[in-house]
Amino acid sequence: MTDRRSLLRAGTLAMAAVATSVGASPAYAASESPASQRRMTTGAGGAAGPADTPAQALARLRAGNDNWVGDRVTRPDASLARRSEVASRQEPFAVVFSCIDSRVPPELVFDQGLGDLMVVRTAAHTHDGLVTGSLEYGPTELDAKLLVVLGHQRCGAVTAAVKSFRDGERLPGHLADIVRDLRAPYEEACRLGLPDERLVEATIRAQTRQTVIRLRADRVLRPLIAAGKLDVVGAYYSLDTGSVTFSTPER
Ligand SMILES: [Zn+2]
Repeated sequence: MTDRRSLLRAGTLAMAAVATSVGASPAYAASESPASQRRMTTGAGGAAGPADTPAQALARLRAGNDNWVGDRVTRPDASLARRSEVASRQEPFAVVFSCIDSRVPPELVFDQGLGDLMVVRTAAHTHDGLVTGSLEYGPTELDAKLLVVLGHQRCGAVTAAVKSFRDGERLPGHLADIVRDLRAPYEEACRLGLPDERLVEATIRAQTRQTVIRLRADRVLRPLIAAGKLDVVGAYYSLDTGSVTFSTPER
């Protein structure tokens, strides 16, 4: 890992040297400042600010979501200067693992911009080895401080999976793979003894909870968490209000 990171950084420096030789813009030069300054953004309002620790990263996402809920979005880091700043290197402060649902775009609901978030999206944030590799990338290679697993209200994928389990009907193609991955949270929700109309929401929350637990135990992520360099938290997005509620399952 260390060797790969050294190579990555060496490559970045080589690219920087080339960019400088052809005349870098002032915005580009600013990207060579210390990390604590690099992660500051120029956007106004609570969505900007340092994100050099897991707690700071979480606070920044909370502030951004407050903007979204209150219809006060600042749309930070969307300028031409920002585009130039991140053209040669990226330092996203958080990874968001969320559903493909068109109504839950992480950059919007957290009021963040270009280069701020690394986003991985699958149906109902189901995952396998390939997806987990993508989730490991930000914290291990780019020092992202926070990994948020974001479930959401009335998730269509979970609704379809629950219907499939109840009716015994197999979904076509690889949709069946998604359903299969949701069986464990479905069974956890069933054990709660809830009425049918609450089963989908309970499965959504169980899926987020189980995903967080699995990622916290991940062989690559666990040491970063133990060292205080990373936190993995669950979250739930309300389609009705736009609010994100964060949670951390028992450690
Ligand atoms: Zn969904």
